[in-house]
Amino acid sequence: RKIRVAVVFGGRSSEHAISCVTAANVLQAIDRDKYEVIPIGISTSGHWVLESGDTEHLSITDGKLPEVDVTALPVLFGSNRELVVNDPGSVPSTLGEVDVVFPLLHGPWGEDGTIQGLLEMTDIRYVGSGVLASAVGMDKHFMKIVFQAAGLAVTPYVVVRGTQVDRAAVAALGYPVFVKPARGGSSLGITKVDGPDELDEAITAAQVHDPKVLIEAAATNPREIEVAVLQGLNGARPEASVCGEITVSGGGHEFYDFETKYLPEGDDFAALSIPAELPDEVAAQIREQSVLAFEAIEGEGLARVDFFLEPDGRVVINEINTMPGFTPKSMFPLLWNASGLDYPALVDRLLTLAMTRSTGLR
Ligand code: ATP
Ligand code: MG
Ligand code: MG
Ligand code: MG
Repeated sequence: RKIRVAVVFGGRSSEHAISCVTAANVLQAIDRDKYEVIPIGISTSGHWVLESGDTEHLSITDGKLPEVDVTALPVLFGSNRELVVNDPGSVPSTLGEVDVVFPLLHGPWGEDGTIQGLLEMTDIRYVGSGVLASAVGMDKHFMKIVFQAAGLAVTPYVVVRGTQVDRAAVAALGYPVFVKPARGGSSLGITKVDGPDELDEAITAAQVHDPKVLIEAAATNPREIEVAVLQGLNGARPEASVCGEITVSGGGHEFYDFETKYLPEGDDFAALSIPAELPDEVAAQIREQSVLAFEAIEGEGLARVDFFLEPDGRVVINEINTMPGFTPKSMFPLLWNASGLDYPALVDRLLTLAMTRSTGLR
């Protein structure tokens, strides 16, 4: 029989809509001769439902962000890899066994080890990093600690919890600073702060997404370079894609924010160069660092690693994303496409890696 894949998307985080857009593309790209697809949505309220698989309502249309259809049939994962209907009177009550889950979720409750833990408990194989790597990759504070221990250069930072702000430490970073939710994504809740009087407002904006906030020194006139990483096949070393560069300018956008990342009007202000125009040895150095970052968190499956390249040649790692976006405008699939792996092949590779993943402790 075909391999039964549950594609899980939406979710409780601020990146719900982006996850839906990603899912629409993955649902279209999966080889239906090889895989039987079960689309599962998680609503913003955390309810799990059997989605229709209709990809039209999962796209951004007229600037309106998509959402999971919360009125669909409630489902959940039971024991023994079984997907069951979570509705007492319903017939049938089970949708059968699932071979592999593609958790296409971004941000907390999805990219952070929580759903990975749930899937470990039910013994189902899944695409991407395990519990620890997902959790470390989500938390920009612990991510930096692990990267530093692996010898990678990170931007200096201060952690803020609640109303306790070490203002002297922030001043020592020097302005501008970037204020971010510790666990977030898609640039949501991030503000570039030019001076101390804008700081509190930025912290409040970040705390909408996470009570834990990071204040980071800004990289100096950086070029932004991203690399996509895939776990090697049959135990081989992880593979790095070509480097890609993002250039943001105009429209009042001072960095790669939500609008420039995803909204149609953002195209006027963010340009992607793939491959990035870099001297060979610089590209090689950044690609090697992306593999080191993936190994440092013990990543599995896939990741996208974001870097800053400063004018003096210094490479600073910004962050890793263990479940990067797969929208048509997203770097991850574009980088692999330029590296010889098209979108359907990439999806197949990820599912193949997941199918060969052992269950139990690794
Ligand atoms: P995603 O997961 O979608 O990549 P994110 O929400 O995790 O994004 P970051 O990648 O940390 O956020 O930051 C978003 C953008 O903000 C960066 O791509 C960059 O343009 C800018 N930025 C963040 N931190 C810094 C910094 N320290 N110096 C300069 N620019 C920064
Ligand atoms: Mg991120
Ligand atoms: Mg992200
Ligand atoms: Mg990023």
